[in-house]
Amino acid sequence: MSGVDLRICHLYPDLLNLYGDRGNLMTLAGRARWRGVEVRIDERGLREPLRPDEHDLYFIGGGEDRQQRLAADDLRGVKGPALKDAAASGAVVLAVCGGYQLLGHYYRPSEGEDLVGLGLLDLITEHPGPAVPRLIGNIVIRAPLLGGVTLVGFENHGGRTHLGPGARSLGEVVSGFGNNGVDRTEGAVAGHVYGTYLHGPLLPKNPRFADHLISAALRRRHGDARVEKDHDAGHQAREGHVGGAHLSGGHHARHASRRADDDQSEGQGE
Ligand code: GLN
Repeated sequence: MSGVDLRICHLYPDLLNLYGDRGNLMTLAGRARWRGVEVRIDERGLREPLRPDEHDLYFIGGGEDRQQRLAADDLRGVKGPALKDAAASGAVVLAVCGGYQLLGHYYRPSEGEDLVGLGLLDLITEHPGPAVPRLIGNIVIRAPLLGGVTLVGFENHGGRTHLGPGARSLGEVVSGFGNNGVDRTEGAVAGHVYGTYLHGPLLPKNPRFADHLISAALRRRHGDARVEKDHDAGHQAREGHVGGAHLSGGHHARHASRRADDDQSEGQGE
């Protein structure tokens, strides 16, 4: 065992879980375990409080307006202070679609009161009403944060998101709609807080992004710990470093996985 552990918190798994957002958790856990990292995933639903030092990475999925309304009050009231403290201390937050909208200042649905957001990201979202088409389809973005790598996904949202000066976009839309269908931005980033409209199998489809998040999350408690099971300088040079902790992918990770299978002490369970 590497002695390196990653503690993930899945927020509102039963409420905000459109298009198989749970697959993102499986990818984070799987890719970290390939490198010998011990992974724990906890779930926190409505009325369940958070402790700021308990997790390294938080995930919030998507949901329709009705589910979002239930989550919004809880996110601000029950979980908000701890989640803000965690983010301020370097924990990673990844939020998709409906969850993304709730990290901004507010979401204005097509009907009813505004949902006040957590304000972790400097953005607002407004739904223009049922007469205006939703932004639906496959999407491709280029993400400078990840060295210009292309991210692919699927989007389905009525809300139009506009970034303020305190947030930068996750990427530039190559094909699709993104934040609002107008300014070609997609998603938002501030520190280690990430929001995106790329749904469902975001991380299974975009393993570089998954590794970037794992590295950032590990760095908080483990610094630049080398979490690879084995290391070959040539391969490392080709893969590069994704953040502080050194992760590598491809065949390298599969070797690590096989050896872990042979060693009962490697902790294959949760
Ligand atoms: N309710 C939001 C919208 O339509 C989010 C939808 C979603 O998460 N897919 O804008």
